[in-house]
Amino acid sequence: MCTRHSIHCFIPPYILEHMAQSPLERVRALAITNLASGAAFVAFRMSAQAMPTLLAQKSPDGTKNRLIYDAKGTNSLPGTLARAENQKATGDAAVDEAYDGSGDVYDFYEQLFQRNSLDGNGMTLVSTAHVAEVDFQGEFVPMNNAFWNGQQMAYGDGDGIVFKRFTGSLEVIGHELTHGVQSFTSNLTYQGQSGALNEHFADVFGMVIRQWKEGTAVEDASWVVGKELLVPAPTRRGIRDMEKPGTAYANDPELGDDPQPATMAGLYTGPKDNGGVHINSGIPNRAFVLTAKALGGNAWEVAGRIWYETMLQLHSSSQFDDCARITVQVAGNKRYGAAAKKAVKAAWKKVGITV
Ligand SMILES: [Zn+2]
Repeated sequence: MCTRHSIHCFIPPYILEHMAQSPLERVRALAITNLASGAAFVAFRMSAQAMPTLLAQKSPDGTKNRLIYDAKGTNSLPGTLARAENQKATGDAAVDEAYDGSGDVYDFYEQLFQRNSLDGNGMTLVSTAHVAEVDFQGEFVPMNNAFWNGQQMAYGDGDGIVFKRFTGSLEVIGHELTHGVQSFTSNLTYQGQSGALNEHFADVFGMVIRQWKEGTAVEDASWVVGKELLVPAPTRRGIRDMEKPGTAYANDPELGDDPQPATMAGLYTGPKDNGGVHINSGIPNRAFVLTAKALGGNAWEVAGRIWYETMLQLHSSSQFDDCARITVQVAGNKRYGAAAKKAVKAAWKKVGITV
C-alpha cells in the first residue's frame, strides 16, 4: 500500500525489503505482507469512501477536533470511534497517544503559525489505532507501519520483535500529519527530489513539534527520529538521524544499514523508494539541523519559522536548489536577525548546495 503516491508510510520500503530477508520467520512473513498488501489497500480505499462525512465534522467553534478510532486488529478504516474531542482518556495507550499527539500537532501549528488544523480551516483530525493487515493466509497481523492516506492517520501496533506501537514517538505523529499540511500547501510531488523535500519537511516539523512540546533547546535536542518505535538493540538508534544522516542503524540483522547520505556527493539517483524520498531527505535534514544549531536557542523560534515559510512558498516540482534558495531568501527578512541568512547559507554549503 505504501507504493501509492497518496499514501505516506513512515517506514520506508527498503527497511521492509531488508526485513523480508530476516532470519526470523515471523519478521520475514510480516515484512512480506507489509510490502505486498495490495488486497488490504483495497479495503482501505473502500472504507475511505465513508470519510467525507467524517471530515465535514467540526467542533462547534471550528477549532481543534480530534476523533480517534479503533480498528480492533483489522484493516477496516476508520473503525469504531474510541475517543472524541474533550472525552477523557480511555486507558488504551495507542488510542490515548494518538489523541494527545494529534492535539500537540494541532496546538503547535495553531500557536506558532496561526494555522487552524492541517487545511488551515479546522479540518477534523481523524486517527485509527490498532490497524492490521492481511497476511498470505488471510489472517490479520499487526501493521509494522503508520501512514497518512490523504484523509486520516493509521497506526499499527508493530510486531513486538523489531517494532513497537507506532503512536509511541510524537515526532512520528507530527511527521505524518505534516504530510497532511503539505497536501494543502506546497503539495510536493512524492518522487525524486520534490518527494525527498516532502519527507524532509515532515521530519523537520515532526521533530520540532516534539522539541516544542518538551521545551527542549537546540543544544539539548535529539535529532533521532522514531527511537521509541524500535525494540532496542545495539545496532539501531532510530529510523533516521537528522543530524548525522546514515548512522541511525548499522549492520542490524533486521534493518540493515541506514542508506541516508549526509551531502549531495552521496545523492541517490536510483529508482527505489520513489527515487529515494526517504534516502535523500537526509541532505536537507542535515542543513536544517546545522542551521538550528548555528542559531542556538529553540529550533521552533527561528529555524522552524524560516522552514515553515519556505514550505508554503514551494510548489509541487520544487527541487533541493529551490528549497535552499528560498530558505536563504526568507532568512534575509530582517525579523530573523542578521545572523540567520548567513547561518542558512553556510548550512546548505556544508551539505553541498551553494546558494
Ligand atoms: Zn513520510
